[in-house]
Amino acid sequence: MKTLILTSDAGFDHRVPPPHFENPPRLRAVLDAMADTPSLAGLDRIQARAATREEVGRMHTPRHVDAVFNGEPADHEAFHGFDFDTFMCRGSLNAALRGAGAAVQAVDMIMDGEGEAAFCATRPPGHHAERDRPMGFCLFNNAGVAAMHALEHHGLSRVAIIDIDVHHGNGSQDLAESEPRVMFASIHESPLYPGTGMEDETGLNGNVVNVPVAAGCGGEVWRARMEADLLPKVEAFAPEFIFVSAGFDGHRADPLGGILLDESDYIWAASRLCDLARKTASSRLVCCLEGGYDNGALGRSAAAFTETLSRG
Ligand SMILES: [Zn+2]
Repeated sequence: MKTLILTSDAGFDHRVPPPHFENPPRLRAVLDAMADTPSLAGLDRIQARAATREEVGRMHTPRHVDAVFNGEPADHEAFHGFDFDTFMCRGSLNAALRGAGAAVQAVDMIMDGEGEAAFCATRPPGHHAERDRPMGFCLFNNAGVAAMHALEHHGLSRVAIIDIDVHHGNGSQDLAESEPRVMFASIHESPLYPGTGMEDETGLNGNVVNVPVAAGCGGEVWRARMEADLLPKVEAFAPEFIFVSAGFDGHRADPLGGILLDESDYIWAASRLCDLARKTASSRLVCCLEGGYDNGALGRSAAAFTETLSRG
């Protein structure tokens, strides 16, 4: 699939009080690994535009949008915390708007026929940010903002967000629970932060699909559960655009996750997601970077995943 890579240098300006897992070197690791991947070296790194207040406001409440727009501390060295692990510094607003903006811009470029798949290498991540609450390292829900853009700006009828991060994407589920045009389908470790994502959370007429797996789950079981319990339900929903919350913290080397995936599992997932996008969504696929906290594993996994999109 003709693949676009979007990123933003603003992601390096979103600092967090150390020690913190979700830090600027993560973005460097992803971009460096992509630069070392010969088949990706020739693709442009598109610097993303900032999402507008209206665009983030389709996903988030006015109260949430105001809290992030006004959340930067006055002091350059200070941090403003929303919870024990979600912070803003001077520079965080621009990073967050460009993270959401990358996903929105990718939707526009794909709808204009400039590409089929996109990988948005940005930070902070997004899938824990609910409609009314920044949470879990996330300020704006990048995939959710882009999903609403596809519906409201481009007039599509149904879109799906598939979440392969090791953590449950409670923020994206929060969107689907009040938006029947969005399907949210997640495979994640359970029990684990944030504690949601049980199989009996099914949304509005089944537009939420949760596939929890236990700590210690290996690639074979993870793939089998995706194949049996997740992908067919997304296909049956017939989305016209597919978003992927692409977290790589299910890697066996990751310090926050307890499942045992490796690069080959992410290659397999990218290939199956391409198949699905081709089948139901006119080859429209936007993948947003979520977690991944062992920088070596993160870089290798994200680069292998994106390379597979470009060959898929
Ligand atoms: Zn995660």
